[in-house]
Amino acid sequence: MNKVALITGSSKGIGKEIAICLARNNIDVVINYLKSEKDAIDLKEYIIKTYKVNCLAIKCDVSNEIDVDNMFNRIEKEMGGVDILVNNAGIDLSNMFSQKDAENFRKTLDVNLIGAFNTSKRAYKHMIDSKWGRVINISSTNGINTYYPMCLEYDASKAGLISLTHNLSIQFAPYATVNAIAPGLIGTENELEGYTKEFLEEETKKILVNRIGTASDVANLVEFLVSDKASFINNTVIRIDGGQYNS
Ligand code: NAP
Repeated sequence: MNKVALITGSSKGIGKEIAICLARNNIDVVINYLKSEKDAIDLKEYIIKTYKVNCLAIKCDVSNEIDVDNMFNRIEKEMGGVDILVNNAGIDLSNMFSQKDAENFRKTLDVNLIGAFNTSKRAYKHMIDSKWGRVINISSTNGINTYYPMCLEYDASKAGLISLTHNLSIQFAPYATVNAIAPGLIGTENELEGYTKEFLEEETKKILVNRIGTASDVANLVEFLVSDKASFINNTVIRIDGGQYNS
């Protein structure tokens, strides 16, 4: 029987690439989305047709506990429990410090951090009962040691996700591993939107491999972490940033 992976926020960008990559490895995948329904349905059809695995597309706001519970109930009914959980859904409400407010701060924490808690809590029982599991939290180099006041809520949420990773790895032991991935600059449509060509050129100069990362770079790392070859990698944070030397 195939393993089942839930990738939150996988209608586009990094999450989409992770879903495709895991399906290519004969893993049944659940695409989760909030607004991008058409993208999610198109991806579901593409995955079923191309990789012949089971695939669901489920609308769910990960910051909402009831929504998350409903999503897991449906997965359990139609596919069995979630063996692999990739907490990828994220928002970044960057703006000027003077324009920031508590509401946007809370919203960012709700999606990026509490969302990962909600899904992990719900995934826990099946992973422990089946004595196997993988949780991968998509944090960011911003959660480690880059400091941009423009995105201070985002940075705090991604740092929190690293702390959550360490505590969950203890809670899920010894059966499931829990790790965080900290990507640097990854050229998804959403990320590149709003950056000027000049800014991107300057940023690229700070990356030792002299290019911006791709969603596939991150998906390849997830592919390895969910494999049995990575069963001794646990409770850690793996940077994937091309050697960005100011981050
Ligand atoms: P993206 O293209 O903006 O995709 C974000 C995804 O999250 C979308 O599928 C979106 O779904 C979903 N989402 C947003 N709010 C949600 C919610 N409340 N519930 C469920 N899903 C929700 O982002 P990306 O660039 O691929 O980034 C993916 C992850 O990697 C994020 O956590 C981001 O912080 C992290 N990351 C990205 C970079 C980068 O350079 N791109 C670097 C470091 C870390 P809908 O469109 O359906 O709403």
